Parts: sequence; structure tokens; C-alpha cells
Amino acid sequence: LKNVSKSYRLANGIEKKALNCVSLNFPDTGLVFVVGKSGSGKSTLLNIIGGLDKEDSGEVIVDGKSLKHFKNEDYDYYRNEYIGFVHQEANLIPDYNVYENIMIALKLKGMKISYEDCDKLLDYLSLNGLGNRNINELSGGEKMRVSIARALVKNPKILICDEPISALDVSIRAQIINLLNDLKNEFNLSIIFI
Ligand code: ADP
Ligand code: MG
Repeated sequence: LKNVSKSYRLANGIEKKALNCVSLNFPDTGLVFVVGKSGSGKSTLLNIIGGLDKEDSGEVIVDGKSLKHFKNEDYDYYRNEYIGFVHQEANLIPDYNVYENIMIALKLKGMKISYEDCDKLLDYLSLNGLGNRNINELSGGEKMRVSIARALVKNPKILICDEPISALDVSIRAQIINLLNDLKNEFNLSIIFI
């Protein structure tokens, strides 16, 4: 990121600066933690990196390519091909089972995954045998791992995690971080974690 700034205009017309000339370099692969207190602009930063929001000034450069002049369809492609998002809430579809929740991510890309390959991914995330399980029959940690699986199945280059563990029991937070740490090697990922 080069000198990225972003402000929001509040309903009362006042401008609120969320990012002020932020310049950062991220490695091609690795697990990077971004820390800062609530309201310091972390989610804004991740949304801009993930192509969900656009900076007011400065630029984001990914793989040597600037996002500055991206059109809508370029953003669609970028979000589909480059980015996996994991949020604080697992945001899974409750009426779908685990397989369906993972597979839908690929459907949006016009691609498919076999149940066999999906099982491999589930094994990798210690979700063995849970493919047919309903979402409401999973623990919080399992839901989060399904949400990570759904992000990974698209084979993104960048995995963006916006406070994925803050809603989880303290006892299982380390598990998720260790898992992500393993995933970065296995999937050649650049993970940005707040
Ligand atoms: P963090 O994720 O570090 O808690 P955010 O990036 O969500 O911080 O927010 C940064 C600042 O921008 C905060 O002061 C927040 O109130 C403000 N902000 C975030 N989103 C909006 C929005 N949509 N409209 C107005 N202000 C916003
Ligand atoms: Mg946030």
C-alpha cells in the first residue's frame, strides 16, 4: 500500500478519517498480524486490500499491478481470483450443510469441486466426516473452520481474516491461529490477520 487514505462522511456531514497515508508492504506468503485498537481503521484497511472498498487517495498494488484504475469487472475478477475473506461471524448459510456451504463459493466462480476433493479440504481443517452436517449442529470453532474452508476452496492468493477468533472461546483461539499458520505453507498464502 502506498500512502492510502480513506475517510467516511457521517450522516451529520462531518468527515471521519479512517486511514491516514498508510504505507505497508506484505510478503508474498506468510501470516501477518495487524494490531490496533477498536476504531483504528483495521477493517477499513482489510476492505480496501480485499477490493470491497476503495481508497480516496494513494494506491494498492498487488503482484505489481495497481488497483487504481480498476473497473467494476476488474474488481469482480480480483475478488474472485485473489481474495478469500474470513470474518468474525462465520456467516454460513444455515439451511445448507457443510458441503453446500463450501461448494457455493466455487459455484459463484462457475467452477466445481468433487466431494472427494472437498473431503480432503475438510480433513485438512480437522472437519473429517462433517460434510453432510447441518450448520446449526456445529460448534463455534467448527463453524469458523468451515468458513476458512469456504475461503480456501477458491484457491485465493490472499486470505484476509477480520477478527476471526474474537467471538470464539479463548481455549480454541490458538487452534485457529496454528491452523492458519500451517495453511499459509500448504496453500502458498499471504494471510493478513487482525
Ligand atoms: P476497526 O476495524 O479498527 O475497529 P474500522 O476500520 O471499522 O476500525 O473503522 C475506522 C473508523 O472509521 C472508526 O472511527 C469508525 O467509526 C469509522 N467508520 C467505519 N466504517 C464507517 C462507515 N461506514 N461510516 C462512517 N464511519 C465509519
Ligand atoms: Mg474492525
